[in-house]
Amino acid sequence: MSVRGINMKDIVSPILVVCMLLYSGLSYGKWFEGNQGIMGTNIQVELWSDSAQQGEDAIQAVMDEMQRINQLMSPYIENSELSQLNSRASDTAVPVSKELFELIALSVELAKETDGAFDITFASVGYLYNYRENQKPKQGQIEDLLKAVNYRHIKFDVDDHSIFFAHPNVKIDLGGIAKGHAVDNAIDILKKRGIKHALVTAGGDTKLLGDRLGKPWMVGIRDPRNKDKQAVIMPLVDTGLSTSGDYERYFEQDGKRYHHILSPKTGTSAYEVQSVSIIGQRSTLNDALSTAVFVLGVQKGMDLLDRTPGYDGIIVDNQRKLHYSNALVE
Ligand code: ADP
Ligand code: MG
Repeated sequence: MSVRGINMKDIVSPILVVCMLLYSGLSYGKWFEGNQGIMGTNIQVELWSDSAQQGEDAIQAVMDEMQRINQLMSPYIENSELSQLNSRASDTAVPVSKELFELIALSVELAKETDGAFDITFASVGYLYNYRENQKPKQGQIEDLLKAVNYRHIKFDVDDHSIFFAHPNVKIDLGGIAKGHAVDNAIDILKKRGIKHALVTAGGDTKLLGDRLGKPWMVGIRDPRNKDKQAVIMPLVDTGLSTSGDYERYFEQDGKRYHHILSPKTGTSAYEVQSVSIIGQRSTLNDALSTAVFVLGVQKGMDLLDRTPGYDGIIVDNQRKLHYSNALVE
């Protein structure tokens, strides 16, 4: 076919090639997803990448980081650094890695700021609960061990990064902060690899890198009494959200719910609220603050958030009523 002497075949094919190039250029990237059970919880990664190699390697790097932190901080792994510390630090100062030293030091800072609501020595009593086996300590045991629950027992030597427990029964546990630390590290790893859009979740801790390609990420806070229902759904970009709930690990006995967030003052589960979600830049802090506000309850918890710039919260109280911190409703 020819129009005024121009052979259409000669121009159609170059246009077609340009169109095909444009099309393939636009659809080059795609979403990659990974799910694994690590740290006693579900790890979920979603990211956008231009190449299958980059996308899959990046997901693997996140999973490797989760495994590394688990090996370091799990109380269930006998030779983890945390377990070694727990078994020896009441006898002698134990040198630990910079990473563990700094996370424990930050935890103690947070204990001070939260009036002892977030206190990693809760574990001195906490390890006597076994939520899978429906086991809880007797009141007498709790009373004995409560003396060991006090962050002031943790002594630091910054020169050799060693830690000493100034009470024979002190045990620590990082379950209220380690997953936040892990997702912060994961997002840093993705950024270094050139990823611009990602979501990383470890149990109740989520962090978002960028947006969802021109749209915000829609992140939900589940109904504490119905796992298939969302209490709140929020559009979020480039931030973190951590939720602590009384439904993650618990058992019921005599009509009472025994769950995994303990008041360091009483050594028993905190009852004023059903869940707390914290939104802020640093997931390590979101994680610890969600646990702290859970222990503090609505009034004191909101007071804490109001004096913590950059960190906001949503509480579902034990009457299932929603409360928002000031900055979210202003
Ligand atoms: P998860 O994501 O596992 O639900 P949370 O952020 O809700 O974690 O924290 C609960 C965990 O925090 C518990 O399993 C325990 O390891 C730890 N924890 C419980 N009570 C306290 C407390 N008062 N202070 C610090 N850590 C706590
Ligand atoms: Mg927490």
